[in-house]
Amino acid sequence: MSLKVLKFGGSSLADAEHFRAVANIIKAEPEVRRYVIASAPGKRNKSDIKVTDMLYDCYELAAHDNDISEIFGQIKDRYNSIIRDLGIELDLTEAFDKIEMSISHNAGRDYVASRGEYLNAMVLAKYLDFHFIDAKKCIFFKDDGTFDAERTNEVTREYLNKYEYAVIPGFYGSMPNGTIKTFSRGGSDITGSIVARAASATLYENWTDVSGFLMADPRCIENPKPISYITYKELRELSYMGATVLHEDAIFPVRYSKIPINIKNTNRPDDKGTFIVPQTDEVSEDVITGIAGKTGFSTITIEKDMMNAELGFGRRVLQVIEENGVSFEHFPSGIDTMSVICSTKELMPKRADILSGICKAVNPENIFVEENLALIAIVGRGMVKAKGTAARIFNSLANAGVNVRMIDQGSCELNIIVGVDANDYITALKAIYNEFVK
Ligand code: ASP
Repeated sequence: MSLKVLKFGGSSLADAEHFRAVANIIKAEPEVRRYVIASAPGKRNKSDIKVTDMLYDCYELAAHDNDISEIFGQIKDRYNSIIRDLGIELDLTEAFDKIEMSISHNAGRDYVASRGEYLNAMVLAKYLDFHFIDAKKCIFFKDDGTFDAERTNEVTREYLNKYEYAVIPGFYGSMPNGTIKTFSRGGSDITGSIVARAASATLYENWTDVSGFLMADPRCIENPKPISYITYKELRELSYMGATVLHEDAIFPVRYSKIPINIKNTNRPDDKGTFIVPQTDEVSEDVITGIAGKTGFSTITIEKDMMNAELGFGRRVLQVIEENGVSFEHFPSGIDTMSVICSTKELMPKRADILSGICKAVNPENIFVEENLALIAIVGRGMVKAKGTAARIFNSLANAGVNVRMIDQGSCELNIIVGVDANDYITALKAIYNEFVK
């Protein structure tokens, strides 16, 4: 029997009109769409402010002993106007008073932020006539602040067994001492995934304001093609390189029980959206699944004759970088040269220490740093089988006059990463996209 867990993002629950659209979606499959995760009200238009951001502002004001009544009043208005426009019988006065009082008495930052989803889930539960389950009772963190997956799964499962239809606020849970803790921003996606696992759902539908993932960033490529199927692994590669629609950590709970995720658009519910699946035989006609990239990288190049014969050379270089608290992204090497690629922002404050540390550790003939590197990841499960993918990438870049500064093919052949000068970034993205996408 199918069972779907649905998560609605802030833009899908920003006003009464969107609440109605959400209810229509749920009621279209009343037997199947039974568990719903709510975000806090998001932006109604470009200049609007998300309720979560207003709550963080309240927290800051209270922390500096300033009055919060004006901004808290605006938050109350947001909920009250939704309640009024929907015509439901719900009086949140008591809940508002309690929250306002807690904020004024310096309640924790996470508690304050979490109230956005708490209140919105109450409104949605009332509107749908579903049971409200407070996430603090079933989503748990450990004393060290990490997520307690097993206890959460057990308790959430018990709750879901008790209630056939429920709304659960996203984004937060509780610490062993009962205080509220949130996931990082956008964390309602994670709650949805946790609930999908606990419910043994057949599908986790993640409803947002776009019809799934696009093959490339629409700010760089005009009208990129949507992705129909993407595997968990491919998505990890793309989101690591900057493609964002779903919170990066949202994959883990469902990955565990192999539940597919469908990214859907609340404003265009008939669009198929993107399916994120454990694996699939469906291969895109384009060979590649997507392209993502980022600027802001630097390369440290170390040259020394006979480096390849020197035992422990690489380890000593990386140890210096680690001891300076900088993480490295890639590590391409040649016979007598080795490069380490790091984020420029992380590297710069430590640059002098790292260079002198490496000199001391391995005594190189030459060492230098080049900034302004952009990395582009070309990702696709189809690349394993298709011959000539690398040749096509490099030909397209050469034809566009782009010089390739670094190449790294992932060992699973799921991705090829190329480094180019940041000034060539957009040209390179376009060249690769046009080469592959029909
Ligand atoms: N409301 C939170 C945020 O804006 C969490 C979420 O929407 O997922 O980050």
